Amino acid sequence: MAAISAATAGHSVCIIDKNSKIGRKLYISGKGRCNLTNIRPDFISNVVRNPKFLYSSLSIFSPEKCMSLFESLGVPLKVERGGRIFPKSDKSSDVIDALYGELKRLNVEISFQETLIKLIAINGKITKAITNKSEYIYDNYIIATGGLSYPKTGSDGSGLEILKEINVDIIETKPGLVHILLEEPILPKGLSLRNVRVKVLNVNNITIADSFGEMIFTDTGVSGPIILTISSIINRIENLNKCKLIIDLKPALSSEVLDSRLIRDFESKSNQDLKNILLGLMPERLIRIVLQKANICGEIKANQASKELRKRLSYTIKNLSFSISSLGPIEEAIVTSGGVSVNEIDPKTMKSIKYKNLSYAGEVVDIDALTGGYNIQIAFSTGYLAGFSL
Ligand SMILES: Cc1cc2nc3c(=O)[nH]c(=O)nc-3n(C[C@H](O)[C@H](O)[C@H](O)COP(=O)(O)OP(=O)(O)OC[C@H]3O[C@@H](n4cnc5c(N)ncnc54)[C@H](O)[C@@H]3O)c2cc1C
Repeated sequence: MAAISAATAGHSVCIIDKNSKIGRKLYISGKGRCNLTNIRPDFISNVVRNPKFLYSSLSIFSPEKCMSLFESLGVPLKVERGGRIFPKSDKSSDVIDALYGELKRLNVEISFQETLIKLIAINGKITKAITNKSEYIYDNYIIATGGLSYPKTGSDGSGLEILKEINVDIIETKPGLVHILLEEPILPKGLSLRNVRVKVLNVNNITIADSFGEMIFTDTGVSGPIILTISSIINRIENLNKCKLIIDLKPALSSEVLDSRLIRDFESKSNQDLKNILLGLMPERLIRIVLQKANICGEIKANQASKELRKRLSYTIKNLSFSISSLGPIEEAIVTSGGVSVNEIDPKTMKSIKYKNLSYAGEVVDIDALTGGYNIQIAFSTGYLAGFSL
């Protein structure tokens, strides 16, 4: 996108990419469907780090402008739940082909399978870009090397290392939108839960993240939409391995209402085992975990259950607690949090403050957002502004 806007503004542009094609990460985005933007009016509130930095880029290249650009390039789009925009064809390759076609139309040169290895900086200016194949002397340089997630797509963090060598301030990278690993030895792998509330409590039992919606158990922890959201919120918390992840299995019921429901169930099924009664309240595969965490034997008959036991059970249903061991690795994260400090960049132009002919765009910058098409739009908006402002 940076190349397209720079070439549209009349610059002669060359892209260097270590891959043999453009848009390898775009290709796998949105499960191959590419959720390329989002038209919710609260776009900014879905940005986790440095949302205000985006005011200029999002106003110059807004989600609406992004949509009209792709439609004008022959990619009809559709809106899905939550304002998410996809190509009508459900094919990310249509988005990539449109970008590639536009680069060709604008005579942008592309050198594939070439890796940037060094930038030479003299007196506050980049004087040369050195790759594994050649050296480039241009008037301006835009770094859009992405983060560290899914390194097989090309974004392996090498851009950040190159920038560190010329003293660019890099905010420590962390995984964003990633699964969470739990201490629990056995989990109901593949079990998905809808309409649950998940909270994370820190060492002082203070809630540091809270989300409602859908999640799934993996063999080593939890994943799914609300878990990914939570991971981006807690990824800079120290002592994460001392934090607890709490699942409220019945967020729509207050503790009192849940307790009355248990009283009714226990009375009407007084001769049944607790584990069978719980079938009406939760998926079978969760019952063992709930009973174990409440320290209750599932074979107890309802008519033998004390009030204290019932209260313990209802408390556990609303506070199913797991110890967090860590976040999933950055290589498996959907997005990288951290990167080039926004203090190094003029938000009105995306130009470096230290080096007057260097600009940044996309995930390489310390900005990340939740799922929903926000991250690609941020890459497009910052890219468009960087190219346009040369
Ligand atoms: C599985 C997955 C699904 C996703 N789905 C969505 C989604 O549906 N919607 C959404 O908004 N976001 C999604 N994202 C996030 C989104 O894809 C990224 O935020 C976005 O692609 C970032 O764009 P970018 O151009 O900054 O970086 P990238 O797309 O990572 O591109 C960086 C480019 O730089 C090149 N490069 C890196 N280092 C060098 C070097 N040293 N020399 C030469 N070339 C180099 C790479 O080869 C690559 O082509 C998803 C991410 C993943 C991993």
